[in-house]
This record gives sequence, C-alpha cells and structure tokens, in this order.
Amino acid sequence: MTAQVQEQAQEQGTTGPALIEVRCPADGRLIASVPDEGPEGVAAAAKRLREAQPAWEDLGPDGRAKHMFRFLDWILDNEKHLVGLMQEETGKSWGDAGLEVAMAVDLINYYGKHAKEFLADRKVKSWGAAGMTKNLRVFARPYQLVGMLTPWNGPLGGPMLDGVPALMAGCAVLFKPSEFTPLTWAEATRGWLEEVHAPPILANITGGPGTGAAVVEEVDMVAFTGSTRTGRKIAARAGDRLIPCSLELGGKDAMVVLSDADLERATSAAAWGAMWNSGQICISVERCYVEEPVYDAFVEKVTRKVKTLRQGMDPDGSYQTDIGSMENANQLAIVESHVEDAVRKGAKALTGGKRGATGFFFEPTVLVDVDHSMQCMRDETFGPTLPIMKVADEKEAIRLANDSPYGLSSSVWSKDRKRADRVARQIEAGAININNVMISTFQLPLPMSGWKTSGVGTRSGGAAGILKYCRQKSVVSEKVRLKSEPHWYPYKKKNSELQARMVRLLGAHDWRRRLGRPPKR
Ligand code: NAD
Repeated sequence: MTAQVQEQAQEQGTTGPALIEVRCPADGRLIASVPDEGPEGVAAAAKRLREAQPAWEDLGPDGRAKHMFRFLDWILDNEKHLVGLMQEETGKSWGDAGLEVAMAVDLINYYGKHAKEFLADRKVKSWGAAGMTKNLRVFARPYQLVGMLTPWNGPLGGPMLDGVPALMAGCAVLFKPSEFTPLTWAEATRGWLEEVHAPPILANITGGPGTGAAVVEEVDMVAFTGSTRTGRKIAARAGDRLIPCSLELGGKDAMVVLSDADLERATSAAAWGAMWNSGQICISVERCYVEEPVYDAFVEKVTRKVKTLRQGMDPDGSYQTDIGSMENANQLAIVESHVEDAVRKGAKALTGGKRGATGFFFEPTVLVDVDHSMQCMRDETFGPTLPIMKVADEKEAIRLANDSPYGLSSSVWSKDRKRADRVARQIEAGAININNVMISTFQLPLPMSGWKTSGVGTRSGGAAGILKYCRQKSVVSEKVRLKSEPHWYPYKKKNSELQARMVRLLGAHDWRRRLGRPPKR
C-alpha cells in the first residue's frame, strides 16, 4: 500500500489494521506499507493452514519435493526481482543479498532429496530377553502447524533455513517475518501460491511483536530466530502452553588466530567474516584474538583489506559495492555506542569508526587496543566492526573466547591440525570452523545449535533439522502370538517366582545374586 493510498484510507475512516511503513535503510525512501495483522489475522491464517495440512502430509516426501523443486525454479526465474527487493528493504549490497538465493537453492535441494530417507520409519534393535519377541519401530509424524518468527537480517535466507525442513516434514507453516523487512518473504509466499500453484500450506503474516506473540498462541511448535531478549519471552510462553520451541539467538563469535596460521587467508576471512551483511549476521566474526608473534602482521594486512571495501547500494546488480548499510536506526545506534565506548576506554580505530553521511551506513571499522572491559568484546555488536586483541598464547585465547555469555560458533586458524583440534575442543560454542569463518551453518548435513544464551535446540542440519518438526511415535509389534504374557493377571505363585528367578539370572552381575544366594558378609 502506498503512502498516498494510506492517507486516503485514513481520511475515509477505512484504515483497518495499523500499517507499518517499510523504508530503504540506505536512503530513507518509503518502499511500501504492510498491515499489522494482529491476533485476528493470525487466527484466520492458522485455521486455513490447519485445514490444508492433512492433504500436504498425505503427499509424502516425494510429492512435497515436487512442489519444492518447482518453487526452486520460481526463485531462480525471479532471482533479480527477489535480490532487488531484499536490497531495498535491508540496504545490503547486491553481492551480500545474492548469497541468500544460493542458500535457498541449496536448502531446497538438500531437504528435497533427503527428506524421504530422514523421515522413513526407523527400525530399532530390540533389547533384553523380554524384547526378543518384539519388533521395534519409530514413525515420524509432523506437527500440524509450526510458527516461524524471523529477524530482519536475512529476509529470504532466514525463513528458508527454518521453513524448508518444516515444509518437507509435512507441516503447515505460519511465517511472521520481521516488521522491518516483510516484503521479500511476502513476495516468495505470493510466488508459492499464485505462480507455482503449490498447496496453501504456508502463510505470511505481517506485523510487529504483538502479532509475533499471537503466532505463539496458535501453533503446535514455534521456531524462533532473533534476539536473546525476545527468545526468553518466547520460551516462557511456549513453556506455559507446553509446546516445543527451538531458539536461535544472538552470538559473539570469536576468531582465534594462532602463530602458525596462513595470514593471507586468515585476514581475507576476517574482513569478510566481520563485514558480510554489514556484520548483521548471528555467526559473524565479532571479536578476534591473535597470538603475539603474528599480531602486528595480521593487523596490518587486515586493515589494508578492510580499507579497500566499497560501501554503498548497487541496485542495478553491478556488484560495484561490497558492503551496504545497517538495516535500522536502533542497530546503527548500538554499533556506534560500542565503538564510542571502546575509544573512550582506550581503543583505537585504524579505519572507519563513524556513521556515514547518509542513511544508516556505518563505516567498516577495525579496532585495536581493545579489552574485555569494553562492550565491543562482551556484548553482541551486530555491525561492521572487527575488534582485534593481542594474546600471549593459545591458553589465553581460549580463556577470552569463553569469557562470553554467548556460544554460537567460532573459528580457529592454524596449519597444525592437532593444535587447531585441541583449541576447537575447548571453545564453548555450537560450531567451530577451522581455517574458515561462518561456513559451518551452510554445511547442511551438520546440526546448527547455539550453546549458552545463543540458543536452545537444533536449528537446521541433517536428519535432526527435519525431525525436530516431527513427533516421534514408538511402535512395538509382537513377533509371536501368545495367548497371554507372564506378567499379566492373574498372578500365579509358580509363574511369578519363575519370572523373578529369570530377572536375577539374566540381570545380576555376579553368580551369588544370579543364583539367589544371600550376599557375603
Ligand atoms: P527480535 O528478537 O527483536 O525479533 C525477531 C522476531 O521476533 C521479529 O519477527 C519480531 O517481530 C518478533 N518478536 C519480537 N518480540 C516478540 C514477542 N514478544 N513475541 C513474539 N515475537 C516477537 O530480533 P531482531 O532485532 O529482529 O534480530 C536481531 C537479532 O537476531 C540479533 O540478536 C541476532 O543475533 C539474532 N539472530 C540470530 C540468528 C541465529 O541463527 N542465531 C540469526 C539471525 C539473527
């Protein structure tokens, strides 16, 4: 809805739900307005989705995959349109936004091809003498309706990361993207329904936190990605309703550079890992610890590389810029305050350090002389900053890396595999990248799960990534047909005593007890 239509509606008193303005963060331009659909909109969508879900589940993994692969075709056919929309509502560079399409394609191919295997009835080996007459299996049945609440940093990648496995599991999915970036996923949903003509088992609800809270009230399970602060509220309400929730929250990922690291590669990775998406990635490099012998060389090389980054919008898809703007004023203010706090306490910005002249841009920034009294080393910055700290040895690097309430992922840099493994084992985080940054999340066979306040449960990856959207149903069937069981009524002295003797004979760990003799005094 344009601003003009909105004004007219207000004059005529036909406003309906409150409207949320979506502006381009790079230049403040109004792109569109969307309704805040509130609890009524959520309840109506939930009803429609529940009606459509059984037929979707009945299609089975192969039937569902056919629709997903047609959706993949649609995404590729509309790539420029989707990347453009993403860029407008986030202020990202074209290159940063383009990677979300790559992620979407990979996710659909991975779960489209593996869902059948992951969801298949699982045979389980029986256990013990009593289990010898049983066949054991586990069936996976999807939750009927899953709610998905996503943040503003990845308007396509975020919903896809959670949504593809849930849809492939057979769930219907109620999406509520961030109120800052509702347009890309609304367009993807329109594509699914109106152009792919796929079944109506996904819905896109627009709105703010109140609408998000209404989603938690309607669904059978909730997958939340966002801040640790909101995650606590979701967990509390899900606990109250006794529905499962998975939480992917904030991060403060450490990069540990050991003295034998390949500095050329490590500095290129640090520049990209800290600045991709203007640092607005939960798994971005938020702080860096470098061993003393290579500290000066590392700082010199990485600063040179960060200085060459080109900042701005490139809406024509020309790849003329590397790094875009911040997504919103709040996040820009947080980044600015972290840099100011660090500088006030003695840090130095070797490049960058201030906001841009227009929009929500913040200059790519390298900070040195930092320590753990500074916010930039302890709190999530979520911006284009790379604070680098000199450490005496790997022991100090591990201690500082673990001195954080967060534990999402990390990276370790060394040419010595044993040394890198030793450090990797001691870092408290859900994923470690050795000689790379951020890549673990995109290795789809691996689970993604945050430690400490970075999350609860597994977000995506492998069989666990799809089975989290299913309830496990244990099925026991009899191999032999007996008229009765020894432990059923009526109890008879002879049978029950024989049974007790068998328990001893098979369960005890020494011959005295097996034979029912009293223990030695
Ligand atoms: P946020 O917590 O403010 O909002 C996330 C989503 O939750 C939005 O859709 C919002 O409308 C909704 N929401 C807000 N309050 C709610 C409530 N009370 N009930 C229900 N829904 C509610 O987070 P944000 O500012 O949009 O995103 C930034 C944060 O997301 C950062 O902390 C970042 O680390 C985190 N993040 C984490 C991951 C991950 O995978 N771990 C990925 C991306 C972003």
